[in-house]
Parts: sequence; structure tokens; C-alpha cells
Amino acid sequence: MTLDPENWEEFARLAHRMVDDMVDHLRSLPDQPAWQPMPAGLSDRILDEPLPTRPQGEEEVYEQFLRDVLPYPNGNLHPRFYGWVQGNGTPLGMMADMLASGMNAHLAGFNQAPPSVELKVIDWLRELLGFPEGTSGLLLSGGSMASLTGLAVARNAKAGFDVREEGVQGDKPHLTVYGSSETHSWAKKAVELLGLGNRAFRRVPVKPDFTLDVEALKAAVREDREAGHRPIAVLGTAGTVNTGATDDLDALADLCAAENMWLHVDGAFGALAAISPRLRPLVKGLERADSVAFDLHKWMYLPFEVACLLVRDGEAHRSTFSQNASYISALDRGTIAGGLFLADLGVELTRGFKALKVWMSLKAYGIGRFSGLIEQNVDQAQYLEKLVGVEPSLELTAPAPMNIVCFRYLADGLSDEKLNDLNSELLFRVQESGAAVPSSTVIDGKFCLRVCFVNHRTRFEDVDDLVSVVLRIGGELSAESK
Ligand SMILES: *Cc1c(COP(=O)(O)O)cnc(C)c1O
Repeated sequence: MTLDPENWEEFARLAHRMVDDMVDHLRSLPDQPAWQPMPAGLSDRILDEPLPTRPQGEEEVYEQFLRDVLPYPNGNLHPRFYGWVQGNGTPLGMMADMLASGMNAHLAGFNQAPPSVELKVIDWLRELLGFPEGTSGLLLSGGSMASLTGLAVARNAKAGFDVREEGVQGDKPHLTVYGSSETHSWAKKAVELLGLGNRAFRRVPVKPDFTLDVEALKAAVREDREAGHRPIAVLGTAGTVNTGATDDLDALADLCAAENMWLHVDGAFGALAAISPRLRPLVKGLERADSVAFDLHKWMYLPFEVACLLVRDGEAHRSTFSQNASYISALDRGTIAGGLFLADLGVELTRGFKALKVWMSLKAYGIGRFSGLIEQNVDQAQYLEKLVGVEPSLELTAPAPMNIVCFRYLADGLSDEKLNDLNSELLFRVQESGAAVPSSTVIDGKFCLRVCFVNHRTRFEDVDDLVSVVLRIGGELSAESK
């Protein structure tokens, strides 16, 4: 028995059809609704299917994919999708993933070409973000994993005892970590998983521009030291998920240097603003971080999943994870010469060839295309901010320093509570209309639409259309509420 096809020609025909179908799908995205709910019963039909004991065949299961799965994504490929921070993927990235999967390379290390591709990609990203040679790095599945991994290095480097041997249990100083109240939720999972505990994560208040209040941070660190705790790390953010705010990273770097703390920057999308000379000032100080985590499946538009962690002190990175098991130890020659040098930089042993889509995309399009697209997204955000600003029935609810615009519909004589109801209904109706997919957030108690531009397919006309749809549906709701 084998899982290779009995008839390779037949399989090749099916495989070519799959490629053609997906290319057609991508080409026709603008003509599809931005999102459509699943038809009644579809989810149950998928979930209720019994264990397949009898083979259905490759064609049959592919037909079911075309019918039941492909038409019902959350919309994130679509030009008029602006929700959360979700990348869109690219046709070349899709094909690179197919090649990577076909090759099925094992990226723990080994004496083979694929790890060189990953190391090269990391080195290019290091250079783009302004980190020195000798910086270490790893590709991971997402920003959450990359930041968790970075914080693990920070913990081991700054704990002041051997965390690997002793753990964080017992009679030791309490290790504390700081970030703004706008820090993404990865940080809560990370401090919990790393044994620091949620209580050790000090949420520092933000200023009116939603950046971390550095004076409040200094006071919190001082208090913790006086109480006998050990402050180990500051989590700065380049591009917060709510409003796109970037902390004063220079001030955080200064403080960390003075206090012997580690600066980890969550730049899930924002870090990549640094690749544009025009936008680089937005994330000034990023290059001084001890570690930075950022997604390539957000603002580099590549298919899920791929993110990058950079760690300035390569030895600190390696010594957090390196292993010495005899069955995988480095030998001088043969397949495992060089050892499992990538597995020594993170938790995962078996790792896929995520680097291929990054390598092919950077080479195929050049850096200029990516920095140009990032600039285009920032310009689109500024354009939307302007449209909202001149429209009396729309109100900006936060500054829009980068690529995220938060605003709400205003209707005369409605209380804030009624406005919140109106705007949440507005959000649902815009999404359900299939015209566009913004998401939402709550800022200073105001429920608002949140429009995030990490989409290489969005055109300026789409932004005009979004405003028209919001005004039309908002007008209807406002009339209904009278
Ligand atoms: C998306 C995001 C994350 C998490 O990244 P994933 O790739 O979803 O794991 C962390 N921080 C910020 C600011 C984000 O926008």
C-alpha cells in the first residue's frame, strides 16, 4: 500500500484542475461578496459526517471542497476586507506553499539547502529592520508564537538564575513584565505559559494617543523593585491592534538599558513600516529592541502561517532552547552535519518550509514593491481619515497614525448607549450586505467601526465605497431609530 496515486496521469489532471480553479478564484475575488454567511445546515453537514471508513476518492472530496468550503471563508482575501489584522495571501505565495509542501522539507536543520533559504530570509529581514549582523532569528507560525518565543529568551536572559534548570518555582524573586494596557492578548497567554503568571504582567496606562505612558512605567518598575521583585522585560508595541499606535520605543530602550531589562517589541504588523524609508520614523527606536516579533502573513501579505522573530543576542536565543539529545546530535558528515540548528532556536522540532514563500516573494517582487504596498495602505488609511473628517455624520474615535482608522456613525439626539447599539447594528448590516468587512472595537466606551489596511488588493475606490455604504446604512438605521 502507498498514498501515491495509482495513476499518475489522472492525478496530474486533477492537480492541474486544482491550480486552475484556485487561480480563477483569486482572479474573480472583486466580483464575489466580501463575505457571505454559510447557508443553513452547512456547518452541521460538515460536522455530522461520520468517520469515513470507505474511500470516497480524491475527485469526490475535491468536489465537496469546491461546494462546501471554498465559497465560505471569512472574506480576508477580498479587496474590501478590512477586519482585524488579517493578511490576504498572494498567488505566488500559494504556489510557493505548494512547492514547499511537495518538497516536504524538514526544517529542524540538517545538511540540505532549505535551511540556507530560511537563514537568508531572516538575514534580509534583519537588514531591513536595521538590526546588526549576528542577530539571530527564526520563522514561526505567527506573531503570538514569535512573541512568546522572544519573551522566553527575555525571561531566561534576565531572571538572574538558571530558569532552564530550576524553573520559576520556589523561593525566588518575583519576575515582572511591563506593557501598555493596549498590548495584544498574546502577552497574557505568554506570561501564563512561561510560568510568570498573569499578575506579573503590569498593564501600564496609555496616554491619549494610546501609547504607553513612560512615566507611569518608570514608577511601576520602581515600586516593584522596592517590593523586592525583579523587573525583567518591557513589551513595547509597534502598531497596536486597536488603533495602530506605536510606543515611544527610544524611551523604552533607554529605560531598559538603565534598568537591565529586556525590550521585546511586538511589531506584528507595524514593524514592517520600517522597510519604507518614508514610514520608518513611525516606528523609530525599533532597531534598538533586544527582540522583535512580526508577522509576514499580515503586512507582507503572504499566506498563513509565517512570522519572524529577531533576537539581537544570538547566544541568549540559542541557550534558551538548545538541546543535546544523542539521537539528533550533530555529526561531522552526512545528512545531519551541522545539527538541528533551527530546532535549537525555538520549541518546535519538526518545522515546515515556510521560508520558501518569503524567499520567492522577496526575490520575485523586490523590496520596493512591498514598501510601496505598505505605503499605499497607510495612504488609504489617511484617505479614509480625511473622508470621515469632512462627513458630519461620522466621527473619528481615535487618532490614525498608521493603517487603522476607528470611527462611528453619529445620529442627532442619540445617547452614547443608543449610538453604540446603532453602530453595532451598522457593523452587522455592512458585513451581511457583502459590501465590505470592517471589524469593530470599543474606544473610551464608544462602539466603533475599525478599518485596518493590510490588504494589497484594496483600491482607493473601495475606500470611497466603504464610506458610501456606511453612510447609506447608517442613514437607514438613524431613520429607523426615530
Ligand atoms: C495579530 C497580532 C498579534 C498576533 O499575531 P498572530 O499572527 O495572529 O499570532 C500580536 N500583536 C499584534 C499587535 C497583532 O496585530
